Amino acid sequence: MKKAPFKLNAEHVALDFVNTLDDRYTAGGPRELLPTYDELLRFCREGGLLTHIEAARLGALSAASQEKGLRSAIELRELLARVFYRWVDGRPPSTEDRTALERWSSAYAQRRELRWEDGHLAWRWKTLTSDAEAPALLLAEQGLDLLLAHEPPRLRTCASDTCRWLFLDTSKNRTRRWCDMKTCGNRAKARRYSAAHQN
Ligand SMILES: [Zn+2]
Repeated sequence: MKKAPFKLNAEHVALDFVNTLDDRYTAGGPRELLPTYDELLRFCREGGLLTHIEAARLGALSAASQEKGLRSAIELRELLARVFYRWVDGRPPSTEDRTALERWSSAYAQRRELRWEDGHLAWRWKTLTSDAEAPALLLAEQGLDLLLAHEPPRLRTCASDTCRWLFLDTSKNRTRRWCDMKTCGNRAKARRYSAAHQN
């Protein structure tokens, strides 16, 4: 059976990534949406970080290195989650987390090289498809890009208490409240409706 595509509605892949631990703050949660390395690869493909060919090559690496690659991605995701959720509250990352971000930054810097392509220089990955940690490193790069953007990102969490998915508020009036109007937004509307029509 073909799996449903990941919900990528955060306006940034690093936030979509954090949202893959679903129901993070729900009593019955959390729910892991990335239980295997294959699912991590699928997420990166759907998020535009890996091509089909790259994902297929990474998917052919040894089980042991895939396991390691998955563990390091999950570790990164939880680091980003701590940093982003504090960011939403206007709080800086802990010293420990800041040091961890520095480590991720130097790890991916070591895997890149400068190449001359189409008349200009560009950073390219040296050994992307033989490195099981590539998904984690690509996501670390995205996360740091967002945190260090020229304009500080307008991070928000979904207004539903049981959801709290992260997203970037890119709306003109800064009024986006829901991760997805079709699910969380409508549920809230239905609740308001039934509360107003009770008795
Ligand atoms: Zn939501």
